Amino acid sequence: MNTQDVISMFNDYVIANYGRLPKVITKGQNNTLGDLDGNTILDMFPGWAVSGIGHCHPKVVEAIRKQAGELLHIDNTFYTIEQGQLAKMLSERAFGGQCFFCNSGAEANEAALKLARRHTPREKYKFITTEKSFHGRTLATVAATGQPQYHEGFLPLPAGFVYVPFNDIDALHEAFDEEVCAVMIEPIQGEGGIHEATPEYMQTIRDLCDEHDALMILDEVQTGMGRTGRWFGYQHYEVTPDIITLAKALGGGVAIGAMMARPEVAKSFVPGTHASTFGGNSLACAAAIAVIEAIEEDKLLDNASAVGEYTRNKLEQLREKFPIIDHIRGKGLMLGLQLNMPGAAIVSQCLEKGLRINCTQETVLRLMPSMTVTRDEIDAAVAILDEVFGEGDSE
Ligand SMILES: *Cc1c(COP(=O)(O)O)cnc(C)c1O
Repeated sequence: MNTQDVISMFNDYVIANYGRLPKVITKGQNNTLGDLDGNTILDMFPGWAVSGIGHCHPKVVEAIRKQAGELLHIDNTFYTIEQGQLAKMLSERAFGGQCFFCNSGAEANEAALKLARRHTPREKYKFITTEKSFHGRTLATVAATGQPQYHEGFLPLPAGFVYVPFNDIDALHEAFDEEVCAVMIEPIQGEGGIHEATPEYMQTIRDLCDEHDALMILDEVQTGMGRTGRWFGYQHYEVTPDIITLAKALGGGVAIGAMMARPEVAKSFVPGTHASTFGGNSLACAAAIAVIEAIEEDKLLDNASAVGEYTRNKLEQLREKFPIIDHIRGKGLMLGLQLNMPGAAIVSQCLEKGLRINCTQETVLRLMPSMTVTRDEIDAAVAILDEVFGEGDSE
């Protein structure tokens, strides 16, 4: 089977709801991908931030192998060691919360929204979210997503969502009333183009939520699990949220999502209120436990900070050289290059030269290398970017 055969198979049998790059990936090892034509690709956007500690991390692979021989799945009618241990490990690294497990970011956010409605008095039903946010693709999470293009064709959406401009403190005050049950934001907007919440904004959300008995939900699906140099994005701020949601890098490549809530809030989910058949199964939890252990044993939080800063400096040097790069945003290994032109062609040209990056919001190049990334790999990636930007200049 060659690349064209695989693409034909997709054309015939797979729903075409993704814009795909014309490569068939057959292998992923740490920060390198292999394709069906024998090319290798340096991956600076591994699995859309899922492979946060690199593809097929040996500790994760080993944990999966071991768990697969013991127990893959048992329903939540029973207890398992793996689910309990994972919840304890997450709780100890966050704010002492309690966890609900599911299988994706959208489901984690859906659980957070349901818990917030359930926990607060009946008259509170509104969710404040921000413009350019991204919270998932289920009907409720797409309604939470403050981007009209994702709503198109799906109306009417679940009611109660109010959108405010990100980092706009006045707009937040204006939107708040006694009907608000929660505010949900990403500490750094990912899909929205790498926009960081300011400390004042975070503090205002906390204060307004406290004042009005509303909950502060942080969608850490992309920022969580160490990418920013701390376990969770909120840990760069002085605030503690009531709920965080996780997915993407949590399982090291295995599907898992989690919602963690303060115990007083979590107690509003009693039997019968919410559930997930696959949620928290032993295989996924064993993988996530291995991810946490690998991050600590290999000191990957420190690596994310140090190599993140190194990358940022390298990108700043590129910016000085190429005026099409307007400025650079982000934290740790979550970086965006704001271009003053569309970036899709640059992504394709990089791929042709063996580098995978992403473009979001049309003009933002997004780099989210794994936390295992080395300075040499960053140098190689920046060299390719330099080449591609250089060719653009001479056209
Ligand atoms: C990717 C993402 C989601 C959705 O996660 P899925 O696993 O695709 O459902 C939600 N929120 C944020 C911030 C994300 O980056």
